[in-house]
Amino acid sequence: MQLETAFQNPQLCHSLLDRLNRALDGRTMRFMEVCGTHTVAIFQSGLRSLLPKSVTHLSGPGCPVCVTHDAEVAAFLELAGRDRVIIATFGDLLRVPGPGGLSLKHAQAQGARVEIVYSPLDALTLAAANPGDTVVFLGIGFETTAPTVAATLLTAQQRGLNNFCVLSLHKLVPPALRILLEDSQCGVEAFLLPGHVSTILGLEPYAFLARDFHVPGIVGGFQPADILLALCLMAEQMRDGKPDVVNAYPRAVDDTGNPRARALLEQFFQPADALWRGIGRIPQSGLALRPEYESMDAMKRLDLTLPDVPPLPGCRCGDVLKGRITPPDCPLFGKRCTPANPVGPCMVSTEGSCAAYFKYSER
Ligand code: SF4
Repeated sequence: MQLETAFQNPQLCHSLLDRLNRALDGRTMRFMEVCGTHTVAIFQSGLRSLLPKSVTHLSGPGCPVCVTHDAEVAAFLELAGRDRVIIATFGDLLRVPGPGGLSLKHAQAQGARVEIVYSPLDALTLAAANPGDTVVFLGIGFETTAPTVAATLLTAQQRGLNNFCVLSLHKLVPPALRILLEDSQCGVEAFLLPGHVSTILGLEPYAFLARDFHVPGIVGGFQPADILLALCLMAEQMRDGKPDVVNAYPRAVDDTGNPRARALLEQFFQPADALWRGIGRIPQSGLALRPEYESMDAMKRLDLTLPDVPPLPGCRCGDVLKGRITPPDCPLFGKRCTPANPVGPCMVSTEGSCAAYFKYSER
């Protein structure tokens, strides 16, 4: 606790702000973070208002709920309508709108068996208590969450729980960053890389940022001084014309990541194409269960497909997640779309960029 408080020290932050201003020396810098926790930390700490005016902060596709595709929500709704199926999900997925603005919350109100769990392991308790039903855990999230789901699959296997399966819609961060940079309209000049995801991945999977695109990538922590240090390093790399991928969060992230967690992931999952809200299909950016675990794969076991669905009318989450616009540029922001009545997923989760702008920005 004391250590974390040290990274909130105002004098330390002011000296880092001075260092950032010196590195920028009047130049502009557009950086993107790709982690919902960074989005909230930057707003909540007041950092956003302290940053030099020449620094543009963009929130990318780093909030698991925000990137959950309309077609994936349609599949949840289809599942919710089936007999003898119990859906186990994290609570923030409940209000994510799919086709026609419908969500699992609506399905639940109409009698669907949708249970909120706080850990994937809770879904096993549900499965044990309901042996005549099939419990489907909705697996969303990034490299941070997926190992806990793999561990749950292992536990289900060890306990012989045959009525448990996972709808794996996990997503991988590095392929999404590549797609963003390949977009000619992408104006991102540097990435603040996600601290949590990086505890699993380490640095190597991001090496292409500097090597192929000459874009700095800095793994950062979540306290104000962590974030400012990461911004200083990216500004200095840009000033010196020496982009690199570095770890500015060594108290939590090892440069090599967590090989044990990655081994568990590889035991149960393999890379697969995935749909991202507002971005579309990104090759090899998701995780599917390996064929040998077919009986625990909800897609196969319940013969599920992701339907073609039209995007939510008027919602510009895709442009927000790609850094093309900021939330207030969306005509629905703060009018038809608010946290109480979200039109799109970026307004649903507390970690969504539209919700963060709504809560913390002056309008
Ligand atoms: Fe979508 Fe609402 Fe954000 Fe607009 S303000 S992009 S409608 S979530």
